[in-house]
Amino acid sequence: MSRPRTVIVGAGIVGLTTAYFLARAGREVIVLDRDEIGDGASYGNAGLLSIGHYPLTRPGVSWRGFKWMFDRNAPLFIRPRPDADLLSWLWTFHRHCNQSWLDRCMKELCAMGFPTLELFEEIIAVEGIECDYRRDGWLDVVLKKENMASAEAEAKTLVPHGYSHTVISGDELRRRSPCFTDEVAGAVWYRDSAHCSPGDFMMGLGAACARLGVEIRTSCTVAGLERDRFGKAAGIHTSRGETIEGSAVVISAGVWSDALTRDMGLDIPMQGARGYHLQYEGIPQLPFTGCVLHETFVAVTPMHEQLRLAGTLEIQPLGRPWMRNRLAMLPAGAKRYIKGIEQGTQVAEWAGYRPCTSDGMPVIGAVPGTPGLFVGAGHAMMGMTLGPITGKVLSDMVMGAPPPLLLPMADPARYAMNGRSAARYEGSAPANGAPPRETAGLRS
Ligand SMILES: Cc1cc2nc3c(=O)[nH]c(=O)nc-3n(C[C@H](O)[C@H](O)[C@H](O)COP(=O)(O)OP(=O)(O)OC[C@H]3O[C@@H](n4cnc5c(N)ncnc54)[C@H](O)[C@@H]3O)c2cc1C
Repeated sequence: MSRPRTVIVGAGIVGLTTAYFLARAGREVIVLDRDEIGDGASYGNAGLLSIGHYPLTRPGVSWRGFKWMFDRNAPLFIRPRPDADLLSWLWTFHRHCNQSWLDRCMKELCAMGFPTLELFEEIIAVEGIECDYRRDGWLDVVLKKENMASAEAEAKTLVPHGYSHTVISGDELRRRSPCFTDEVAGAVWYRDSAHCSPGDFMMGLGAACARLGVEIRTSCTVAGLERDRFGKAAGIHTSRGETIEGSAVVISAGVWSDALTRDMGLDIPMQGARGYHLQYEGIPQLPFTGCVLHETFVAVTPMHEQLRLAGTLEIQPLGRPWMRNRLAMLPAGAKRYIKGIEQGTQVAEWAGYRPCTSDGMPVIGAVPGTPGLFVGAGHAMMGMTLGPITGKVLSDMVMGAPPPLLLPMADPARYAMNGRSAARYEGSAPANGAPPRETAGLRS
């Protein structure tokens, strides 16, 4: 008798970690991706495995975003356009930018942090993946002295969740890594986090999946879900009309997930926030660990002997031409902090999309109304970090085993359409008739 097969849509960090844990448990798995492996967000991100990271929905962020809306050089750029989906997304996002919602999000996101790094370390050790993984924290590097207090206050909010940090002066920072300029006032060192070369990790993970018998099929675009006569997931069909059968289906298609799930009873309010990276070799000295530059939001990550600058958030329709002025913001935003970037040779440039939901939380779990259908998407700027724990939770759910963590804030039920046609509004009752979970935080 053949083993029950799981069909996974998307070979990013969520799809491949889900495939990996299923295959390790002896399940038959096929992963489908419309692109070649190596291009997506999971391969080109900043590689900061920054556990305890805030979601995008933070008090004040929406107001700052609205202010920046017309500035093509602001860290967050939203191309203004009369688009009902965007306007609804912005309104819901704005309503979630409050302290009580943030507190609820952080409880769940922080609980995912340490387990996800344990899973990274397990996969890397068991599969022998060379990805320059280093568990040496990350630095919030502050240029202006007057910003040190707020940077430290932010770190202190993580202490009740079991996270530790150290404040270091500019002089101490320069003693450890002479590449920091004299202008830098200091840094907050988040001690528990890690960083890696994400592309190397992903290629190693893909190879490990293949060794475990996972079939990874590229250039294969999934167009929709196949159901059996009871309405249960029975596989998918591709854009070429082929049907690929499976007793469970996992949608982990990053920023494109909502386009697929809308016909499956789930209306995820999703926007793609594009970011870029530039990679350099030959920079005389590298920082001793990964950094985020406090005032410019540029991520700076040493990877092997190279340095990656990554960042900027750009919300506009998917697939628009690159905004090269925003690419140029990366070295411009880093040079006051790090010496010698202009001496390096640029070896790569890249752009990718962060999948952002309007409430700032990912969508992880079973899709109500369709047994056998699961989704893992919407991790925004935390997807590399939270990928392994998401994959573990999803693989356990697929196998009917109790997951290592309960993630009620990430429950897909909050976006269940219950037979309605897709409509992007909040406050609809989920399948079980309980009060809608995400609006409870907004009222308080
Ligand atoms: C500039 C930048 C820096 C970042 N830095 C960090 C960081 O430091 N730390 C961190 O934790 N996160 C970071 N992120 C976020 C992180 O990269 C993403 O959250 C994460 O990679 C999302 O993973 P995913 O598996 O959900 O989606 P993806 O990696 O986007 O994978 C989805 C896959 O689905 C495929 N697909 C889509 N539609 C279909 C279809 N119809 N049929 C078949 N296949 C399909 C796509 O081709 C793609 O390969 C960053 C992102 C960017 C852009």
